[in-house]
Amino acid sequence: MTSNTDLNDALMARARLVIPGGVNSPVRAFRAVGGTPRFVQRAHGAYFWDANDQRYIDYIGSWGPMILGHGHPAVLEAVRKAAEQGFSFGAPTEREIELAEEILSLVPSMEMVRLVSSGTEAGMSAIRLARGATGRDKIIKFEGCYHGHADALLVKAGSGLATFGNPTSAGVPPEVVQHTLVLEYNNVAQLEEAFAEHGPAIAGLIMEPIAGNMNFVRASVEFTRRCRELCTQHGALLIYDEVMTGCRVALGSAQSVYAQAIPGFEPDITVMGKVIGGGMPLAAFGGKRSVMEQLAPLGPVYQAGTLSGNPVATACGLATLREIKRPGFFESLSAKTQRLVDGLKTVAAEEGVPFVADCQGGMFGFFLLPTLPQNYTEVMKSNGEHFNQLFHALLDRGVYIAPALYEAGFVSGAHSDADIDATLDAAREAFRELP
Ligand code: PLP
Repeated sequence: MTSNTDLNDALMARARLVIPGGVNSPVRAFRAVGGTPRFVQRAHGAYFWDANDQRYIDYIGSWGPMILGHGHPAVLEAVRKAAEQGFSFGAPTEREIELAEEILSLVPSMEMVRLVSSGTEAGMSAIRLARGATGRDKIIKFEGCYHGHADALLVKAGSGLATFGNPTSAGVPPEVVQHTLVLEYNNVAQLEEAFAEHGPAIAGLIMEPIAGNMNFVRASVEFTRRCRELCTQHGALLIYDEVMTGCRVALGSAQSVYAQAIPGFEPDITVMGKVIGGGMPLAAFGGKRSVMEQLAPLGPVYQAGTLSGNPVATACGLATLREIKRPGFFESLSAKTQRLVDGLKTVAAEEGVPFVADCQGGMFGFFLLPTLPQNYTEVMKSNGEHFNQLFHALLDRGVYIAPALYEAGFVSGAHSDADIDATLDAAREAFRELP
């Protein structure tokens, strides 16, 4: 299906012998779209080069963290300096305080924050904290939202309304997810019913405010408002998983976007990752002081990490946040992303392809559907076969988008107008090839 894949093929064959499926995270294997994954040999700015030295315009950016593009000079310098001072100490450093202060200044609903190494770890810890702080067991999550691969969150909806879910992975005993209630995203009636039935037992509700793991589905303002109100009314904690959206859809993250529509709106706990680490293994969870003080060593909720607050990762994250705070950075990023999305819509319309798209800040999504979907069931109606053809047609033309129809796309500060124009030219040809 694709051309010029010989060295990638050879690497994939070698990788398969020693790494399950040849990859260290399943979506990288191109299982959904077919073909051979590109093995990256180097990256710079908005591009990476594969094993064949073929260049791609990168709209994945490591699944979100690379908001400045690859190899930003200020970030490189900060990382180099930090590495020379030492890789890891297992003791506190001033840089951890600086990064914590920076995160709290950007996301003021967080009064305290703890740094960890992955979004999975941050989400898992946030759930434990919500349970520990409330003394309750049940958690609400929404179908199609992904919060990392902790056992309690690897769960899909059961057969009926307000039923507890079924594990989505072998190795997760049903008892482990028996306290996880899985509901439909953007379904206010179902949410109200769940709280009416289980309210006093619900420790927390975790949601992606813009669901990037359904490509790009916004929580409606009404749904967002009811999530907040019902949590408050029933003494449950509202947890925003902003691992993907944090400092990506806006400097103040998705919650700052919703706060404009819902005065006084704030989650109780926020989970962050990706951009705050700038491409290094770093994530965080934070929230109200009274809740965060439940964590060890102050409180009874245990959480720890050998590499938590790693000095090289914190240097990378700090340098990244300082760059995106520069006046005009987000305005320019948002305008670029909007230009890409508007251009794609125009080209698709001209080529007669059913196509909808949306974006916020530096994150975008599109569907081969006549209208924007509101939940997982609607997302999965997007034409998978056509998506796969589109994916390969773009890849062949040097444009790299996520290899699955339910994954979001990311624009960086390094993408130029010329990159976007080249992408739109490639998209026109790709749309034209669709049956
Ligand atoms: N939460 C969300 C919203 C995510 O998109 C992801 C990963 O893509 C995670 C959590 C898990 O983060 P990580 O892959 O760093 O463990």
